[in-house]
Amino acid sequence: MPRWFGRTRSAAPPRAPGPSRAKLRIGIPRVLNLWSTHQFWVGFFAELGVESRRLIFSSDTSEEQGRQFGKGRGTVDCCYPVKCIAGHYGELIFGQREKLDILFSPMIYNLPSFLSGHVARTLTCPRVMAAPENIKAGFMKERDVFAEQGIRYAAPFVSLDEPRLVPKQLWEGLGGVIPGLTAEETAGAVAAGYRALTEFNARLRRKGREVLEWCARENRGCLMVLARPYHMDPGIGHEIEVDLQAYGYPVLWTQYFPIDDDLMQWAFGPDIRAGRIKSPFDIRDVWPSSYSSNTNEILWGAKAAARMPWVTCVVRLASYECGMDQPTYTPVQQIVERSGTLFFSFQDLDSTKPAGSVKIRVETIAHYLEKYAGDIIEKKKAAMGPGCPLLPRAAEASLTGV
Ligand code: SF4
Repeated sequence: MPRWFGRTRSAAPPRAPGPSRAKLRIGIPRVLNLWSTHQFWVGFFAELGVESRRLIFSSDTSEEQGRQFGKGRGTVDCCYPVKCIAGHYGELIFGQREKLDILFSPMIYNLPSFLSGHVARTLTCPRVMAAPENIKAGFMKERDVFAEQGIRYAAPFVSLDEPRLVPKQLWEGLGGVIPGLTAEETAGAVAAGYRALTEFNARLRRKGREVLEWCARENRGCLMVLARPYHMDPGIGHEIEVDLQAYGYPVLWTQYFPIDDDLMQWAFGPDIRAGRIKSPFDIRDVWPSSYSSNTNEILWGAKAAARMPWVTCVVRLASYECGMDQPTYTPVQQIVERSGTLFFSFQDLDSTKPAGSVKIRVETIAHYLEKYAGDIIEKKKAAMGPGCPLLPRAAEASLTGV
């Protein structure tokens, strides 16, 4: 597994920094959709000559971080993934041994989803998009903390699912912040960012396929997490899936589920031929108002989990007061349960891990998996057509009698 927020081999190789950028330190809050787009930013800044060790991501979210750095900076949002950002800003501003020059917190309007082109839109939640302005207010309400600390605040509006707009948006948003930035090199850095992100995502999907192939070969079950990318943050998702993994079940996240054409045609081909959907990534059959990117991916993940025999259990994570998730609870649960897959939901997650109830529920899930996983796999295999590309040929032949 690559280091999540580090520079990976897929990120652009560093260029020799221009003299005025050589010592630039850029802080980025490790929040919200940075959890799914970090490699774009790592590749982007590397191409601009910013050294990776000078690109500082804040720590994972924690109550301690909020208490130490975000206290008294709260603004109007009641959703914890947004509220906690004050702690990340505070840590970047006050908690560094060496001061930052720039605090970079992009206002991401839409996301480069693998469902793009198959759904209505790939927008971010409005709370997510507005969060950088919202949180900034907590550091400006009495006096301008950024100015006091000599830190430039940059929150460019960026449409990551519209690559042709991005160079202009970032050049305009960073022109006065990164010394000597030209439109041409911004375009080159944006291209490097997309390359890094695409390669990173492809690598994790290959890993996901390896996991599924292992499950198919061994006839063993795995779990799938349906959640927003920032539920990977231990302080937001509370590592519930890690507790389950400790029982020996591999865990897949929707965002990195394999999407190879052979697998997609096997899983969704019958629905396409029946005219219910137009492509494997079309979700109109279950979610016609497909505007929100992360919501779309959760709905698609439910469909994919329902079709994959070795996904024996789905774990749904959602944060307290999430208005985007609330309308999806019933459809997601129905899609998963109708396929015979176990479904467990942890809703209303907030700052504190409900450790006692999580422990009891994790034990319950492990018990059900041990008892029923074998039956679930057989039932789901019987419901799907032959030719699963995850199965070794010999096993597939013995299954189908060919
Ligand atoms: S999608 Fe939900 S959890 Fe995420 S920022 Fe919006 S309201 Fe909060």
